[in-house]
Amino acid sequence: MDDTVSMQTLHGAIGEIPAVRCLEAAFSSGRLFHAYLLVGRNEGVKLALAGALAKAGNCRETDQPGTFCGTCDSCRHVDAGGSAALRIFGEPGVLDKDAIDRFIACSSIKAPSGGLRVSVFRGADYFTDVAGDRVLKTIEEPLPGNLILLLARNSRRVLPTIRSRVQVLKIDVLTSTTRGDTPVPNECDEQIGVLLEYSRENVHLGDAVVKLLHMKQQLSARDNAASSLQAMNLFLNAVVRARAKVAPPEGISTAIEPDLARMNFVLNEARICGLLVALSDHMKHLEQNVNPELVLTTALLELRRLNSHG
Ligand SMILES: [Zn+2]
Repeated sequence: MDDTVSMQTLHGAIGEIPAVRCLEAAFSSGRLFHAYLLVGRNEGVKLALAGALAKAGNCRETDQPGTFCGTCDSCRHVDAGGSAALRIFGEPGVLDKDAIDRFIACSSIKAPSGGLRVSVFRGADYFTDVAGDRVLKTIEEPLPGNLILLLARNSRRVLPTIRSRVQVLKIDVLTSTTRGDTPVPNECDEQIGVLLEYSRENVHLGDAVVKLLHMKQQLSARDNAASSLQAMNLFLNAVVRARAKVAPPEGISTAIEPDLARMNFVLNEARICGLLVALSDHMKHLEQNVNPELVLTTALLELRRLNSHG
């Protein structure tokens, strides 16, 4: 292999989205789930992610899980739309019964050994109960090497029976980062220190909430809560990255990074990804004037729950 071929990563192709980091971590640790629900308004990003996953799962030029070259036959076939490694069915916003039939048939074909077959269904928020039941059977009896991606704009519209059997990934950037007010590097250290102690169960919930709500005297409780949620986002991202053995995110000081790396022996990775997704909802609740103490308490309880084993 030519050493000059530079490999592409999922986050390089798609952007810095927590869900993408979660997928990379899952790839690297060989624990890719067999069915995901990708939720978000931008259809293009979700499809690009499906393409990147198909490339990463079949590229012939890479031995690093979760990366791809973009230039080998396999990668080029995916990009050209003619690859058996990536099949896309359905349209967002409509329910097409024939498309469901074809999607189920396609997800029931065994993947070639060592390869990954990605079957995508768009408009999973429009499944009827009957259609949902049929798709459910396919999800419940996964064939090795098959990856099912259900695409939806609104996760609340997706049937609960489906939602409970897939991993839900929000493919939207956190509102705080899109506004450009991400914390200045190292400014989060103190908050992350509190989160760290709280995660290790050295600090009680009530004490952690009070500390975080009053951390920066010049800020209101609401702004302190928003800043704490950002710190939690950074904290969890750093833990996921440490597990995937990639460099820590900007804003994590080298002083605190070793402590975060050690957290991944305690925290459960799938739950971390779930909480990362939930954090963007908490951020929205703060913007919608929900009581900051309540929002922060809920988020911290979810963080503590990451710790329970089993
Ligand atoms: Zn390739």
